[in-house]
This record gives sequence, structure tokens and C-alpha cells, in this order.
Amino acid sequence: MTTIVRRHLFGPGPTNPYPEATEGLARPLLGHLDPVFIDLMDETCERLRAVWDTRNARTLPLSATGSAGMEAAFVNTVRPGDVVVVAVNGLFGRRMCEVAARCGAEVVPVEHAWGSPVDPERVLAAHSNPSIVAAVHAETSTGVCSDIAELGDAVHGASDALLLVDAVTSIGGVELRADDWGIDVGYAGTQKCLGVAPGLAPFTISDRAFERRVERPRSWYLDLGLLGGYVGEAGTNASGGARTYHHTAPVAMVSSLHDGLGRILDEGLDNVWARHAEAGEALRNGLEGLGLELFAEKGYRLPNLTTVKVPDGVDSAAVRRKLLERYDIEIGAGVGDYAASVWRIGLMGPNASPDAVALILSALAETLGR
Ligand SMILES: *Cc1c(COP(=O)(O)O)cnc(C)c1O
Repeated sequence: MTTIVRRHLFGPGPTNPYPEATEGLARPLLGHLDPVFIDLMDETCERLRAVWDTRNARTLPLSATGSAGMEAAFVNTVRPGDVVVVAVNGLFGRRMCEVAARCGAEVVPVEHAWGSPVDPERVLAAHSNPSIVAAVHAETSTGVCSDIAELGDAVHGASDALLLVDAVTSIGGVELRADDWGIDVGYAGTQKCLGVAPGLAPFTISDRAFERRVERPRSWYLDLGLLGGYVGEAGTNASGGARTYHHTAPVAMVSSLHDGLGRILDEGLDNVWARHAEAGEALRNGLEGLGLELFAEKGYRLPNLTTVKVPDGVDSAAVRRKLLERYDIEIGAGVGDYAASVWRIGLMGPNASPDAVALILSALAETLGR
């Protein structure tokens, strides 16, 4: 039998869940069309509007992980031949290019150095009339936070392109304002700063983008038109009729998300962001105190995901193995060219705390002999 262990999940996600989210998993199971569950789903969508800071009616948890949010975003908005400009400053921007290409887009990637933020001027200069401009808010592969408010202003000032944003790692960790920043289509995940197990993709789409959607997208499962018949507003579906079966919602996961979001909103989003900011700053200071060098560009460092260079002569994988075996601590390796030269340390959700900072710093200090 597999041994059950408890780990400190200080990698790029999943993080340890909030206790409320774990308790939410254990509620008595309901049918997915039970009126009580429908109320719970409605309340979950309302809470998602709060964390996205949006009034979009179509704000819902998709029944799959963050990558399905990415698929849903593109498959519902891209027609063959559409020009999609993608700001690429890490792995997830690259993945966006791949997904958009599979939807038939003419993809215009705007490559940035890994570790740098997205440059709106370069993105605008890439094409005069794109259908969609896409970017990652918090690039988990590099630990960089880009300024989406600035990108939104630039994009909407220059064209009527839709702004499509990956907020998987930013949601519930750093400031995110879908409406103010002009995000037309946004997707996220549960297992990063929302502090819920992996399995759902919080999704939001503006009316403007929904009106321009692909009527019969290649994906049946992720067809937002069909999903609107199941998840909607105030007891009815998005078109005002009775709830209809589309697929079986992962009831336990939705309960968990509902309760995890409740915890975040009780604490207050501003307080949650401040807690992540403080933990990130303490971690960065501590790492520099150990003589380590940070990777992401100064001024754009995510508080919730810190990238740090592996010192010369140190075996990256051996350190991670020792942290896991001796301290039950998981941290992430780097990605792509930086697989062996960078570590990624996430302090997300409940792990954005002084005791988590103290634990990872002391374990690293001992493991590195510093
Ligand atoms: C984790 C992550 C994803 C993918 O989410 P999954 O839940 O792993 O499918 C997408 N974008 C970013 C920025 C991420 O950090």
C-alpha cells in the first residue's frame, strides 16, 4: 500500500489547501442538479466574481484544471485564420501559442527574455489588427508578474482586440482586477493561491467577448454556450431557462472551492494580497541573506512564487530530494533552459505565512551548509 505522508508544498502548485477547502471536500455528496447544490454553485460563481473583481455574468468554475481554462479561452474565441498575438515570457506563454495554433489561429508570438515582464509596446507593435492579444499575468515558470492594467490600456487604446489573460497563479495571491484592467477572457486554477486542490478552472468572459464567440467550437465539453445552460445566474441558466444537464459537475470540488473562497473573502482580498506580499518579501530577504541570487527581474518579482538561482557546483536535484526526504518539503525545479539552474519556491494560499518562510529558509540553510 502507498504510504500516506504530509508534505509542505512549497513548489509552483499544488499548494497545501486552506483547512476550509479540505473540509468542503468532506461534505455529504449531493446530486449535481440538487437545488441545494445549484445554490452552492451560484454562490461559488458569485464568490468567483469577487476574486476576479468582475461583474461578468459568465463567471464559473470549469470542470478541469487550469490548462482546460486555457483551452476553453482559445477554442471559444478563435476562428481559423484569426490573428492571435501572444506575449511569451515563459512556459505558459509558449503553451498559449500551441493551443491557439491548434484552434487554427495565425499566431504572432512576441518573445521576451525569460525572467522579464511583458512589454506592452512590443506587443502592440507586433500586429496592427489582431483579433486577440493574450498574456500571462503571473508567469509561474519564471516568477515574473506583468502589468496587465498597462497592457489592457495599450491593447484597448489601439484596436478592438480581445484581451485574454492567464491568471492561474495570480488569482488569490496578487492584485487582479478583471473589469478595471479590461480583461475580456480570463482563466485560472484552484491549486495555486486559491488554496484548493487541483481540479477546477475559474473562468470569466465579458459580454463583448461572449457575443463574439465561436458558435460551435471544436470542443463540445468546453463550449461556453452549452455550459451557460448549466451554470448561470440566480437559479436559472444563462438564457433564463431551467438548468439542464451538460456534464456532471465535480460536486465535491465545487464544495471545496466554495469554502476555500469563503475563507479568502472572510479574510479580505486586500489582507490576503498583503499576506502574500509579506511572505514573499521575507523569503527574498532570507534567500539573499543566505548568499543566494534571485532570478526574476527586480520590480516584477511575484511574492507568491520566487525563483532563485542554484549556486555554482550545487546539484539542484539532490537538494530538492533532500528537502523532500528529510523535511517533507517540496520545491520546484526550473523550467526549460533553466531546469537545473533555478529553483522555484511557492508560498501560496495558507503557506503565505511567516512560519512557512522560516521553515523553508532553515531547511535550505542546513541542506546547503550555509
Ligand atoms: C499551473 C499553471 C497553468 C496550468 O494549470 P494546470 O492546473 O496545471 O492545468 C497555466 N498557467 C499558469 C501560469 C500556471 O501557473
